[in-house]
Amino acid sequence: MKEHILVTLAKRQFLNVERETVHLVDEPEINAFLNDIEQYPHAYVLGCLMDCQMKSEKAFAIPWLVKESIGSFSINCLADYSEEFYQNLFISKNLHRFSNDKAKVFHVAVQRIANEYNGDASKIWADNTSSAAVVYRFLQFKGCGIKIATMATNILARQFKIPLSDYYSIDISPDVHVDRVLKRAGLVSMEVSREAIIYKARELNPEFPGIIDFSCWEIGRQFCKPQNPLCNQCPIQSECKLF
Ligand code: SF4
Repeated sequence: MKEHILVTLAKRQFLNVERETVHLVDEPEINAFLNDIEQYPHAYVLGCLMDCQMKSEKAFAIPWLVKESIGSFSINCLADYSEEFYQNLFISKNLHRFSNDKAKVFHVAVQRIANEYNGDASKIWADNTSSAAVVYRFLQFKGCGIKIATMATNILARQFKIPLSDYYSIDISPDVHVDRVLKRAGLVSMEVSREAIIYKARELNPEFPGIIDFSCWEIGRQFCKPQNPLCNQCPIQSECKLF
C-alpha cells in the first residue's frame, strides 16, 4: 500500500528535526521548567497527569505553581508533604477544575516516583525500553488513562527524542484537529468513533501509529481550519478527498 502523505510528512519531521523545545504552556519560564526533563523529569510526568478536563496549558502549569508555593521541586521535598497539604493547596489556589481529585493524583504520583523510581521519574523511559513498557508505566499512575499514557509517551518519543526500542504501542491521540483532518482528507468517514480513528492510524503506520499526531495537528491548525480551510496552501492537498 502506498504510504499516505500524512505519514511521509510525519516521518520527515520525526527523523530530521532535532529535539526542540516542546510547547506545553505559553509562559516561557514555565515551559523551560517543564522541558527540563533531565533535572525535573517528574515535572513533565506530573503535568501530564494533571492534563484532564481542563485547558491543557493550565494543567501543565500546575507543577510550576506547586513549586512556587513550596519553594522547591525536589522529589524528596515534594514527598514530605501529605495528601491533606496538597488538597489544601489545590483548593485554596483553585489549581484544577477537579482540585480535590487531582491533589490526590499529584500526591500519589509523587509517592510513586519517590518509592518505585527511587526519586527519578526518567527511569520510566530510560534504557532504550519499549513503547509498551513506557505506556504501561504511565498507566500505573493513579488517574492516568490510556489517552494520557499514549500522549505522554508520544511527546517523549517524537518531541523530546527519547530513544525507545520500538514505537508500536504509541497510538494517536485524536483531538479536534486530528479528527477534522482525517475526516476531510477522506481517511475516515464523518461519523467514525474515536476508537476507529485510532485503528485507522495503526493501519496507516503500524510501526508508529501516533507519528501522524503532529502532522495532523499542524495541518489542522494552519490550513484545515474549521471555517474556510486554506486548501491551496495545504501540504496534503494532492491526497485530500475534500479538495
Ligand atoms: S486540502 Fe483542504 S480540506 Fe483537505 S486537509 Fe488540506 S485544508 Fe483540509
